[in-house]
Amino acid sequence: MKFGTKAIHAGVEPDPTTGAIMTPIYQTSTYVQESPGKHKGYEYSRTHNPTRTALQNALAALENGKYGICYASGLAATDAVLKLFRPGDEIIATNDIYGGSYRIMKRIFEPFGLVFHFVDMSDVSNIEKVLSEKTKMVWMETPTNPLLKIIDIEAITKLCREKGIYSAVDNTFASPYLQNPLDMGADIVMHSVTKYLGGHSDTVMGALIVNDDELAKQLAFIQNASGAVPGPQDCFLVLRGIKTLHIRMQRHCENAIIVAQWLEIHPKVAKVYYPGLPSHTGYDLAKKQMRGFGGMLSFELKGDVYQEAIQVMENLKVFSLGESLGGVESLCTHPASMTHASIPKEEREKTGLKDTLIRLSVGIEDVEDLIADLEQAIG
Ligand SMILES: *Cc1c(COP(=O)(O)O)cnc(C)c1O
Repeated sequence: MKFGTKAIHAGVEPDPTTGAIMTPIYQTSTYVQESPGKHKGYEYSRTHNPTRTALQNALAALENGKYGICYASGLAATDAVLKLFRPGDEIIATNDIYGGSYRIMKRIFEPFGLVFHFVDMSDVSNIEKVLSEKTKMVWMETPTNPLLKIIDIEAITKLCREKGIYSAVDNTFASPYLQNPLDMGADIVMHSVTKYLGGHSDTVMGALIVNDDELAKQLAFIQNASGAVPGPQDCFLVLRGIKTLHIRMQRHCENAIIVAQWLEIHPKVAKVYYPGLPSHTGYDLAKKQMRGFGGMLSFELKGDVYQEAIQVMENLKVFSLGESLGGVESLCTHPASMTHASIPKEEREKTGLKDTLIRLSVGIEDVEDLIADLEQAIG
């Protein structure tokens, strides 16, 4: 089945009791048993819920995986992955990473004894430099946030297989429409479902998709034992959201390249970070491993004046200033003070994230209106 057909049909069956074409919102905490232990596969909604099951199956299908496991947020999904490890275990993570991922690693799991190395993975040899006997996982995020660097997933998963360690990819920015890391050898795909999968800025959720039976069992155990599960209403909203994922992503990509090209020749713009521009360092790799370049881009103004960057963000009207991304509406973010504020300034600057960087999540509005808005805001 091709992607669009899967987005609409995968995981979803007519409801067995009524034939309802849309999976009902099973707003229930428990299920009546005929006799102790004799039930229809559902006992308690932390463990299983039919609305969640449909969504998990749909997400697995979209990532070409066997198992989907949903969590209350993207970070709850990351939390579940990190709970696979024990004190002394080492993890190598992308340095230009979502701020909250950095925070959960450094502030929650490092005090419990996990050891993290943050490296620039656009050069694979940087990983080899910190690999040791204790390394248990490589955590990639590509395209990176907010500099849109592209990491070679296949090269790194190959290295991980040789070393017998897990490879995980935060696939939030690309969405399964543009990139399927399991097909490139990854063991774990993580999504902040909050973003493109949900697509309408109305739900916070996370998911993991895996192929390995044992790994799926462990992650489902953590889902139930730690209990960070999404509610059925949210699962319903995401099931609805993913039915249009393919057409939304097509428009996000079409609009973003036009915005990126417009910004690139603007006299006041110094640099545009968008993997679909041939000037971008990751352009060739993005063409190879992605089916499109996505809706995210960042840029810097000439002169690098903090107040001028802030002014542009205040001037924007169609682009709303806010955290998050991947919704139908265009958003603008100041990574240094918003999404990446939890990374110390020193660390941010080491990765090339300036305080004057502006990040755009290009929505699916008419692109002429987006360009006009940027024009009036930048001046
Ligand atoms: C938002 C985001 C997360 C965290 O997801 P939540 O749903 O906000 O917990 C992780 N990674 C990336 C790339 C994100 O954009």
